[in-house]
Amino acid sequence: MKKTILAVITMAALATTAMAQNSNFNYSVDRFADIEVLRYQVPDFEKLSLKQKELVYYLTEAALNGRDILFDQNCKYNLMVRQTLEDIYRNYKGNKTDKDFIAFEKYLKQVWFGNGIHHHYSMDKFTPEFSKNFFDKQFAALPGADKRAGEKKVLDRILFDPSFMAKRVNQADGQDLILTSACNMYEGVTQKEVEDYYNAIKDTTDLTPISYGLNCKVVKRNGKVVEEPYKVGGLYSKAIEKIVYWLQKAATVAESPAQEAYINELIKFYQTGSLKTFDDYSIMWAEDTQDQVDFINGFIESYGDPLGMTGSWEGMVNYRNETASHRTQVISQNAQYFESNSPVDNRFKKKEVKGVSAKVITAAILAGDSYPSTPIGINLPNSNWIRAAHGSKSVTIENITDAYNQVAAGNGFNDEFAWSNTEIELMKKYLALADNLHTDLHECLGHASGQLLPGVDPDALKAYGSCLEEGRADLFALYYLADPKLVELGIMPNMEAYKAEYYKYIMNGLLTQLTRIEPGKDIEEAHMRNRKFISEWCYQQGKKDNVIEYVKRDGKTFVRVNNYEKLRDLFAQLLGEVQRIKSEGDFEAGRQLVETYGVKVDPAIHKEVLARYEGLNIAPYKGFVNPIYTPVYDKNGKLIDVKVSYTEGYIDQMLRYGQDYSPLTH
Ligand code: ZN
Repeated sequence: MKKTILAVITMAALATTAMAQNSNFNYSVDRFADIEVLRYQVPDFEKLSLKQKELVYYLTEAALNGRDILFDQNCKYNLMVRQTLEDIYRNYKGNKTDKDFIAFEKYLKQVWFGNGIHHHYSMDKFTPEFSKNFFDKQFAALPGADKRAGEKKVLDRILFDPSFMAKRVNQADGQDLILTSACNMYEGVTQKEVEDYYNAIKDTTDLTPISYGLNCKVVKRNGKVVEEPYKVGGLYSKAIEKIVYWLQKAATVAESPAQEAYINELIKFYQTGSLKTFDDYSIMWAEDTQDQVDFINGFIESYGDPLGMTGSWEGMVNYRNETASHRTQVISQNAQYFESNSPVDNRFKKKEVKGVSAKVITAAILAGDSYPSTPIGINLPNSNWIRAAHGSKSVTIENITDAYNQVAAGNGFNDEFAWSNTEIELMKKYLALADNLHTDLHECLGHASGQLLPGVDPDALKAYGSCLEEGRADLFALYYLADPKLVELGIMPNMEAYKAEYYKYIMNGLLTQLTRIEPGKDIEEAHMRNRKFISEWCYQQGKKDNVIEYVKRDGKTFVRVNNYEKLRDLFAQLLGEVQRIKSEGDFEAGRQLVETYGVKVDPAIHKEVLARYEGLNIAPYKGFVNPIYTPVYDKNGKLIDVKVSYTEGYIDQMLRYGQDYSPLTH
């Protein structure tokens, strides 16, 4: 529940980083539907030692081999759909300028991007724009098609019946969230049955609880609700065996005994499926802050589960950007100041902040739930008690934010939506820095701050948990961005810079994030809901002082922030309340807050924003292809180097992954 995704579609400013970026680099790779695919650089990879490069290489292989797991978790038909579409794509002999083929290719690109048949963000099923007739013909031309009539029937329904498996994760209040969600983390059970099951096995007096349900599918067997764990010999065994194989190789070239030990613990987790072992691994991982190469590999975030329990499979390999990490070191060294001075009730504060470590990293590979759409900041582990007792690791992924900034420069977005030149100039000058700092504060301090009162169930906020948690971390970051302490510490230049982030946040929350919502729809995604409830709450509560105002010019709607100091006070008040909700597990207050301020959209403004945005011709969502790592061996088969290249396009990469990293389909 602790990741930051790009808040706003664009930033006018270029990041000023110390990274050795190649300025002639070609960032843009592909464009289709509402997506732009980019590539990212891995600066200073060649400066890693040979052993580190070898470690990165093995870890990237371990990461790429988990891809099929996520497809299957997202919907039980995803692998069949992907495989069939890829077969048809390769087998196609017709004219590639044919309207149906072009629509087919677009749909396939969407399925790859969504890791399945649903949109990665809206969770809605994609609508194919090719004819059923085209699909029938192409399917019939596949070798062995005559023996696949049953499969064809299912495929027809998936592709051409919009009501079938319509939504991957349904969050609509008052419905059975399991029965109405197409994801594959439950089968044959109702929401009530699952909740009863976990209520019965959860020990609420346990101060170090495992993350219930994190690595399993919940099903009914002989009338009984049971968990089926993901592990070697269990669900997804073939993929997990491959992951384990590469992790074992990685362990042999670990940077330190501590790193070797936690890689081995992770292997043990995959072999046993024991969530206690996963906790042990997470503690060892969180406590190792020395090694430069690091990774995520496992069932991590639970946004893909309507009940927020099962982790979607995710992989990422990275190494620390030593120069840029100075900024985050300063923040984490002062973590206790931020915790002690935060505007929340003292009962909900940590008396002693432990091991909040923060760094700026270079992502080397993105996989599973982080691919192709990827976060720009991550804070793990997710387990509350581990974070409190052993600390957490927080990262800002600067080679990814750099790529975003490079392609966003000068796309006209802020000129269209910002109120005046004052705001535009403010954002040009300070937004890249303020955005990175916001991510640092959100990940490193925000998620790590606060504590639950004794006996409060960490899952008490249920479907609202993710959204409220993201809101809490955002509020913490927003509050401190305007703290003179940051200027004093030398990481913020002056008391103007924070206003760039405040303005952007409110503009995005009230107006521009609507570009990501289809007409007539409500806001559903957790991060978007959190940005909306914060912005809307501050707008409503600040009305009497005219803190935030909607203004019109030339028939267009803008937001203006009239009083930045008062806006900070509002952030402080709301932070206090959201922290109370979390610390006390006040489900009803959390539900009220999100439903009242975070869900509904003004249709007139929505329509206007969409029309203005369309005129800019910017893709609302972005994602990435990975670099290729090629090991170089000497004549005795000893690895002597790892080369990185950026030559692969989107289709090529997806087809290659479908062939080479597809243990559940081949
Ligand atoms: Zn977060």
